[in-house]
Amino acid sequence: MDAEAAKPRKQRPPPKEAFIDGIEHVTPGVIRISCSGPELAAFMQPKPAGHIKLFFPPEGVVWPSKDPASDIPRPPSRTYTPRRFDAARHRLEIEFVRHGEGLASSWAERARIGERVLIGGPGGGYPVPEDARHLVIIADESAMPGAGMVLEALPPDCRAQVICEVASKTEERALSPIVACEPLWLHRTDKAARPGALLEEAVRAMPAPANDTFFWVACEAAAMRRIRDILIAHHGVERARLHMRGYWKFGEANHPDHDYGAD
Ligand SMILES: Cc1cc2nc3c(=O)[nH]c(=O)nc-3n(C[C@H](O)[C@H](O)[C@H](O)COP(=O)(O)OP(=O)(O)OC[C@H]3O[C@@H](n4cnc5c(N)ncnc54)[C@H](O)[C@@H]3O)c2cc1C
Repeated sequence: MDAEAAKPRKQRPPPKEAFIDGIEHVTPGVIRISCSGPELAAFMQPKPAGHIKLFFPPEGVVWPSKDPASDIPRPPSRTYTPRRFDAARHRLEIEFVRHGEGLASSWAERARIGERVLIGGPGGGYPVPEDARHLVIIADESAMPGAGMVLEALPPDCRAQVICEVASKTEERALSPIVACEPLWLHRTDKAARPGALLEEAVRAMPAPANDTFFWVACEAAAMRRIRDILIAHHGVERARLHMRGYWKFGEANHPDHDYGAD
């Protein structure tokens, strides 16, 4: 047996079970689903822009099985933002972009009150630097829940500048019910343009940022890389001041949850 095979398999904690108790169409393109249940008593308060895994067992498959000897494979999962967790009510809110065909997006379209939800995590998140005085948030629709969490975690004397690319004016919405902010909204009027193209243009056109500016960037993976390159090469921003996340990849299902744009 080689060394890799001899390693014990990483034991992941079982997912927590919850049940849908609210479905709200926040905008024409975003569905907010709330779920609650006693197992969420063990759900940790998520860090800003942390993530969860939602599991989608095939119809009729009971997973996880109560039988420890069961060999039912781990079902497919997708990564989402635990937008708001009410620890007293064991209630979690998740916001889904209705992007069309996709395991999670299609599930959200069909979701019904009372339906079972399987949740892993939370994990990850953006430790907002304590000394941040100026943060630029750059996001598309998929990252607006994360952007809202980051806004709510800013140190008191930190100014935030927010740039959001959305399909149209009807997708504009408050990023947070408790923190006021006026994002620069960019509307995708050219439907043939690559996702994130407007964010790239806006970043390139920005005045040179002050040396102490931090950036939180989350959007389509290729756009995120182009924005990273503009920030570093064009604006001279230090890599250490960037927090980059590819949240999804154009034309590819199930993009990994740890795309920090290191390549
Ligand atoms: C840390 C993290 C947090 C995230 N939080 C959220 C969140 O709160 N809300 C949210 O909606 N998404 C969020 N995402 C993005 C989400 O994980 C992806 O959009 C995921 O691909 C959706 O899964 P799916 O099954 O619907 O589509 P998939 O089966 O993965 O993809 C099917 C097709 O849809 C395309 N696609 C996927 N996402 C989008 C999109 N947003 N817009 C247009 N086309 C798309 C793919 O390119 C592919 O062609 C997050 C991702 C990460 C890494």
